[in-house]
Amino acid sequence: MGKVVILDENTANQIAAGEVIERPASVVKEMVENAIDAHATSITVEITNGGVKSIKIVDNGDGIEGDDVELAFERHATSKIRSIDDLTRLSTMGFRGEALASIAAVSKVEVITKTEDAKTGTRVIVEGGKVVLSEPTGAPKGTTFIVRELFYNTPARYKFLKKDTTEATYIHDVISKIALARPDISIKFVNQGKTVIHTPGNHDLLSTVYSLFGKDTARAVIPVNLTFNGVKVSGFVGKPEISRGNRNLEMVFVNGRVVYNRTIITAIEEAYKTRLMQKRFPFTVLKVDVPPETVDVNVHPAKLEVRFSDENMVYRTVYMAVSDALSGASLIQSIEEED
Ligand code: ADP
Ligand code: MG
Repeated sequence: MGKVVILDENTANQIAAGEVIERPASVVKEMVENAIDAHATSITVEITNGGVKSIKIVDNGDGIEGDDVELAFERHATSKIRSIDDLTRLSTMGFRGEALASIAAVSKVEVITKTEDAKTGTRVIVEGGKVVLSEPTGAPKGTTFIVRELFYNTPARYKFLKKDTTEATYIHDVISKIALARPDISIKFVNQGKTVIHTPGNHDLLSTVYSLFGKDTARAVIPVNLTFNGVKVSGFVGKPEISRGNRNLEMVFVNGRVVYNRTIITAIEEAYKTRLMQKRFPFTVLKVDVPPETVDVNVHPAKLEVRFSDENMVYRTVYMAVSDALSGASLIQSIEEED
């Protein structure tokens, strides 16, 4: 008798969940991205006990068709791509069809959803990957997910959670970055009954910065705007006076995603070099937009990293854009107009 067995689906899902869902903030990120992909204009996230006890995400997006709700919890179930080629022209945040399956494998999930055209909505409860209830229900257009008791069936993962206040801070961070990526969406974060973030959703990035970081920060930022060889750099960089002792507010977005990218960070810091003391780091809300076929978003389990086909071009454009903004003088003319 051999020793090799194929893991049952539930075990496989719990293991896969470890890659994508590390902590409550990962759930929030995946769920808010799903709401964005569903064209929501308003998203509310409410948590209790750092999100470990419950995370509720309410959106006013497209909703999920009744027949699709249970299917959406399966692994590799997605409405967003049909083949690997679609990744080269991806316009959605999601594409792997793994988040719902992963989250449902390690928590108790309730969803209430309704599409515009449906007569009634659908309510489904999935616990530890198993559907325990599915029924029609009255609901407004959009989707509400409630994730309860995260990691209740994976004690090893549960043990690694930090204190509730620390987990809430991670969630706060994820939500503020997504809010900056999408100033066209009104995003609200309620922690333990208290509203701590509420962005206007008025399409204006500066009002979003103001709403998240306050007046003093909003007054100390400089607009960035440069397009060069198909790389568009926009957003804001902080004056040296609002620099800080860590990199937490060096925020970078690539094609609307919150990412960590060494090339961009290095270019930013190089542009600031003569303006900041050692061990001081800038405040930035820097958006880099490139044609989708020139960036690979499928290189990291949580999609936190991306790879450019021409790193050098990205580096040079970011460097020029930031230097340009900081010096207040135009180093190079924008050769492509904003659309
Ligand atoms: P992916 O986002 O990669 O497609 P997910 O597991 O995150 O995979 O979601 C599976 C599917 O469930 C999505 O493709 C989408 O069709 C549906 N879905 C999930 N969340 C929402 C939502 N908030 N509104 C509408 N549809 C949703
Ligand atoms: Mg998703």
